[in-house]
Amino acid sequence: MAEKPIPKPYQDTAPYWEAAKNNQLLIQKCLSCGDYQFYPRGVCHRCLSSSLSWFQAAGHGTVYTFTVNYRAPHPGFVDDLPFITAIVELKEGVRMMTNLVQCDPEQVSIGMPVRVMFDPVTQEVTLPKFRPA
Ligand SMILES: [Zn+2]
Repeated sequence: MAEKPIPKPYQDTAPYWEAAKNNQLLIQKCLSCGDYQFYPRGVCHRCLSSSLSWFQAAGHGTVYTFTVNYRAPHPGFVDDLPFITAIVELKEGVRMMTNLVQCDPEQVSIGMPVRVMFDPVTQEVTLPKFRPA
């Protein structure tokens, strides 16, 4: 079986991945304008301040949009078919691309409440995913 491509943590994302290993979902909060942002990056998406802090999200959200994958985009995903790729809007307001799991693909709907769960895919990387709340 082919290995899946795995995210590679780097300077701006390392705290996010480290927290995920401890089953915590971190997003960034700007200390200048107060806005939350995801994905992690070096400056605020709104005011370009580099004064950012990490904030532990509650892990609750709703399905903003989704697609059900019936064809694997990479050989490593063949055994997961069909699987759900979704954009989840957290209650903090940011949107994350993720997978919905523990969910029948025929039962997903936009606006469905979901809750984070953590999938330790390697020793170094744990992927935050979502399941129906
Ligand atoms: Zn800002």
